[in-house]
Amino acid sequence: MPWAEQKHIPFCLVLTGTGTDVGKTVTTAALLASLLDHQDKAMAVKIVQTGIAEGSAGKTAASDSYHYRMAGAGAAFPTAQTLHSYPLAASPHLAARLVGQKLSCQELASEIRTFVSAHSDYDVLLFETAGGLHVPLNEHEDWLTLLPLLGFPVLLCAANCLGSINHTLLSLDALERSACKVLGLVLNQTHLCQDENERSILSDNIASLRQRLPHLPLSTLPYCDCEQRFQKLSQALIPLRELIVRSKTPKQATSLIERDRASLWHPYSSAEASAPLSAVRTAYANRLILEDGRELIDGMSSWWCAVHGYRHPHLERAISRQLAQLPHVMFGGLTHAGAIGLAERLKSHLPKQLNRVFLADSGSVAVEVALKMALQYQYGLGEKQRRRFLAPLGGYHGDTMGAMSVCDPVNGMHQLFSDCLAKQIFMPRPTCRFDQPFDPQSLEPAKSLLAQRGEEIAAVILEPIVQGAGGMWFYHPDYLKGLAELCQQAGTLLIFDEIATGFGHTGKFMALEWAGVTPDILCLGKALTGGSMTLAATLCTDTVAQGICAHGQVFMHGPTFMANPLACACAHASLDLLETGAWQKQVHDIEQVMRSELAVCATLPSVADVRVLGDIGVVQTKSPVDCSALSRYCIANGVWIRPFNNLVYLMPPYISPLEDIATLCRTIFQALLTTGTGI
Ligand SMILES: *Cc1c(COP(=O)(O)O)cnc(C)c1O
Repeated sequence: MPWAEQKHIPFCLVLTGTGTDVGKTVTTAALLASLLDHQDKAMAVKIVQTGIAEGSAGKTAASDSYHYRMAGAGAAFPTAQTLHSYPLAASPHLAARLVGQKLSCQELASEIRTFVSAHSDYDVLLFETAGGLHVPLNEHEDWLTLLPLLGFPVLLCAANCLGSINHTLLSLDALERSACKVLGLVLNQTHLCQDENERSILSDNIASLRQRLPHLPLSTLPYCDCEQRFQKLSQALIPLRELIVRSKTPKQATSLIERDRASLWHPYSSAEASAPLSAVRTAYANRLILEDGRELIDGMSSWWCAVHGYRHPHLERAISRQLAQLPHVMFGGLTHAGAIGLAERLKSHLPKQLNRVFLADSGSVAVEVALKMALQYQYGLGEKQRRRFLAPLGGYHGDTMGAMSVCDPVNGMHQLFSDCLAKQIFMPRPTCRFDQPFDPQSLEPAKSLLAQRGEEIAAVILEPIVQGAGGMWFYHPDYLKGLAELCQQAGTLLIFDEIATGFGHTGKFMALEWAGVTPDILCLGKALTGGSMTLAATLCTDTVAQGICAHGQVFMHGPTFMANPLACACAHASLDLLETGAWQKQVHDIEQVMRSELAVCATLPSVADVRVLGDIGVVQTKSPVDCSALSRYCIANGVWIRPFNNLVYLMPPYISPLEDIATLCRTIFQALLTTGTGI
């Protein structure tokens, strides 16, 4: 939608402080006066007022909105508003609790967004917080929880006094860590200067902060207690006002989506025809927040990755700590504790034969590494004719050339490249369902192919238990047992691609545990870092490693970002969370809810099959669904899923509240019913 057709959005600014009594209200009122002076339609809003009973805010001089009103005297429209007020002059969490209420950041954010929409005729809305950044709003949340949800730029107010430099820098650090864009800093002189010494401290504060923060606009407000002080002080804020006036005019006449369409590729997208696209501003737990403020329940874990949800504080802290220590260093000839510890830790969760770890930067690369390991191993053994891979139909292993060559050759999009890809050998997908008794017949194709062409085959590669992007198909664990034996007899290696299934999705930590089979080579990725960084791993047995390195050979792969320390730190943090074991009950409960809530989809004539395993819930339709229509319906109903082909599926973060899981399932049912997809 072009910008001009969109509803006008006021410029919103949050005014916060380094503590209480640092002159926030004076600054807000003076800035308001300055904006009104400039003929801007502006209002100041106190988000939470304490020390004032409900309803009397604005009428008494003790309330901040009273001052806003003074600053706006003469305006032909309201210039002051208080959203919440409580009688006790205390921190909001306590003041609210004493009258039996509880503030919630999520509710405050949506209340503020509604307020902004209702005041779209204003040019500027100023929102003042209460106290400093870590002042609690409830037992778990503070202003730093709320501000990223709003996404408004922030003006930091500090008192000019002894300690200002320290308080200001600490507050700016905290704002930065919470991804808040700081528009500027205002230093207030909150009392009359006593003597020459104090004067020199105050002027040094200003000079020092200017030096430390050369790029941050800094305004100073002198002490003033005369009548009309807001009008007087407003003069000092003219540069700040100019900054706001400049920021409020959109630099681009086009929306983010239009700019995206003009420049970017998306996964499996056309540069010509535009599929539906939404811009995400932030996310938390199992919620995505769009640029326009809408909030969606996430059913995708961002393609299997974000198993702990978004912006988990433990992962965020691990990344910031590592960022401060060593974000990256080359892995050739150098090493670091993060990678070493991660290799040891991954091994501790896997069959002990998988002893050597290659840390790559994405799943496809981990698959390339696995294929090259198998080829180099066979080469080392003198088995130079073993140049091919055997893979089941319906597999998916990534989008690079080697990985594509072992993906489903018909179903996947890779048939386009079939003339350029290495020719591999394919067999039917494991036919025996996960939830039915094992049928040994399902192993026959593997048996006969290995008997006929075993000599050509370096390795068999497949996704254990769940074929993901190739069809969300769950097959019987005994298939893997039988296949492992056949491989052994044929002298071919067995590669498990656990990139999608690893780290709990199937209800076991690794899907291979269902079968109790140890492959020769194992690929991990996706949820390895809990979804905040890209990292993958390929593990192999000592036998494979020795074969590769026979005759003085080296393993021929080494990506630039191999074992990236930030990604390793994030993987450690994710393993910390998984090792608490909480995921087991979470995945189990999600599975139960999906089983009962998705079952009804099977009654739709368009639906061919409904299946659930761990946190993977699949509704397979008889013919391809209208993915765009389905996505649009779901977004309009507050849900994020991304169906493909004839598969509408869920893979929600483990931390999702169960009522959200139920909502996801019900929305899928309604979406299939309403969009009339399928036959
Ligand atoms: C996603 C996926 C890959 C590819 O991983 P990328 O990080 O996207 O390169 C490989 N194998 C499986 C089973 C996958 O699900």
